[in-house]
Amino acid sequence: MRYAETGFNLEVDLTRGNIEKIATSPEDTELYLGGLGTNAKILWDRVPPETEPFSPDNLLIFAAGLLCGTPAIGCNRTIVSTISPQTRLMAFSMMGGFWAPELKYAGYDKVILRGKSPDLVYLWINNDKIEIRDASHLKGKGAIETAELIQKELNEPRAQIAAIGLAGENRVYYASIEQGRSSASRGGIGAVMGDKGLKAIAVRGTGDINVARPDEYMDLCNEVLEYIQFREENPIPGVMPILAGLGSPQEMKVHDEKWHTENFMWGNSRTRRKGFWTEEISKSWGQTMEKARTRLISCYNCPMKCGATISMPGLPAYMMKCFTKLTYTMAAMSDLDFGLKIAQRATEYGVDGFSTPQVMAFALELYEDGILTDDDMPGLPQDNEERFYWLLDRIVNREGIGDVLANGTYWAAKEIGNGAENYAHNNIKKQEQLPLKLSMLNPIYFLMYATGAKINITQIEGQFPQAPFPRREQREAFVKDWFQVPDEKFKQYFLDWELRGENSIPYYPTVEMCCDIVDWQERMHYIDDALGQCSGLSAFPLKPPYHMHNYPKFISAGAGIDMDEDKLTRAAKRYRTLIRAINIRRGMRRKDEKPPEDHWKHRFPELEKKLLDEYYKFKGWNDEGIPTQESLHELDLDYVGDELIQRGILKDTGNKPDKNTSSKGALD
Ligand code: SF4
Repeated sequence: MRYAETGFNLEVDLTRGNIEKIATSPEDTELYLGGLGTNAKILWDRVPPETEPFSPDNLLIFAAGLLCGTPAIGCNRTIVSTISPQTRLMAFSMMGGFWAPELKYAGYDKVILRGKSPDLVYLWINNDKIEIRDASHLKGKGAIETAELIQKELNEPRAQIAAIGLAGENRVYYASIEQGRSSASRGGIGAVMGDKGLKAIAVRGTGDINVARPDEYMDLCNEVLEYIQFREENPIPGVMPILAGLGSPQEMKVHDEKWHTENFMWGNSRTRRKGFWTEEISKSWGQTMEKARTRLISCYNCPMKCGATISMPGLPAYMMKCFTKLTYTMAAMSDLDFGLKIAQRATEYGVDGFSTPQVMAFALELYEDGILTDDDMPGLPQDNEERFYWLLDRIVNREGIGDVLANGTYWAAKEIGNGAENYAHNNIKKQEQLPLKLSMLNPIYFLMYATGAKINITQIEGQFPQAPFPRREQREAFVKDWFQVPDEKFKQYFLDWELRGENSIPYYPTVEMCCDIVDWQERMHYIDDALGQCSGLSAFPLKPPYHMHNYPKFISAGAGIDMDEDKLTRAAKRYRTLIRAINIRRGMRRKDEKPPEDHWKHRFPELEKKLLDEYYKFKGWNDEGIPTQESLHELDLDYVGDELIQRGILKDTGNKPDKNTSSKGALD
């Protein structure tokens, strides 16, 4: 009997229209857990580095995390993985909502798509009955509209539908996959879906998921619920309001936007507006939000209500959460009313709310500076806000200059030339980042930005406070009930962290401490992404209900895998290293691990070099950032080492430590 997972994947060949139900290996679950972990294994095994993102041989994998569909609170993530057209590396983007549990109830852990359909189609998974259906009538339809039309057509209002809009159909490099109450937006995964000729996947499942030890599991779930309640009643003092509680940053509930609007950059990520957040703005934006927000909504089996339905006059309702509330507003140097209106159109088109506004602001800055001209932008409106709508329409239709901009700032700048590359200044590994430009180098964030494979800082950070608390008494109060730390040393790191003086950034936390902190933060995110847990209740907030000490119990009682903290740490390290190896095999090296030059005003090249050197060593990577043969062996990844050697990426040192003297394997 398989527990927590179904033990089956759906393999769909869109070229041939072939559908197969394939039993999966329980050994792979032990080694890679599920979700992101097993997605990485499949991509390593089946997508060689020569495969282009828009090749029929590129796979697009929709995975429900290992514990999705069980009663674990907030465990509902779909992990979509593929090779990104934007970064040309492995992309993995998560979406919440209801889709992943529904897939489990239909009897599958993953849907693996290969090939390309000659005509636009959608997939209908109705328990054991699976069909590839014509979607020609949905061509050009919005992502949310598509979901509604499919539900009607199937006469199945409870079907969960993940769909692309026009941007995905036209292979915009930052096209998203929308799912009613959430979206998977980073890395251009929607473009790969469009390239495969797949408009949507509709799922309806009415089966059950077994858990190994139900009583124990329910006790664990109840403990999580109780702790959520406790944290709701006891917000963390001394941090910004959106970080004081649990869940995704509570942008839909919290109206105080002083921190974002005054610290993040506006326009093409260049203009800081200190003193912007006046009482007048606060009142008017508060009113806009109150009017627009029809209700707060949650994902499957979660009490947190991080999202909201937004209804602007004369426009269909849509779902919003998190920082997308401000991205369009700030890129256009406009107000919240504009941002909420244009986000409706952008959601239907299906585009990433982080990249899209930046691409448009980038184009307008190029125009203002004469690098793009009226010849490039014939018909560009005079009005600033109208310009953003105009650009958005052209990008998703790949029309005129929109065809160039649809590839994101990095590729667009290369194509435009004439100095445009200096305007694409906010990328890491070819993907737009949050518009943050700060003063003093933060060594923890330096490492996360440089080495993160998720390429999205908000999905790497968490657990450790972003900045020291000013007074020692505050820090002492904070660490008192900080039981989530995997090791007591983290408390001391934080206690000694000062705003100024010897123990302040950039030299404190020390290089060694930074390695520990970044590794802990990243590990938690990777565990979430394998289990399907929303990081809003785990890796992202301070003092979350899920942590290193209760996760092994959830996996043991839920999936029936004998798990402890060491074994879980090793499993997470294993598939994190495998993702690293996939990207290394695709050509990524140390030279690519660079935060934007202007991210911090004060840079410290020697310290930055040391940080990378030591972090690479800490992770078992060589000076180029390539996992060593020894570390791969230790993680039961000899097959990866062998291929890297065969491809001339690693030298065969013959140095494989004896298994008996190295740490134990997952199956030992
Ligand atoms: S914490 Fe928020 S984003 Fe996460 S599952 Fe719950 S409602 Fe969804």
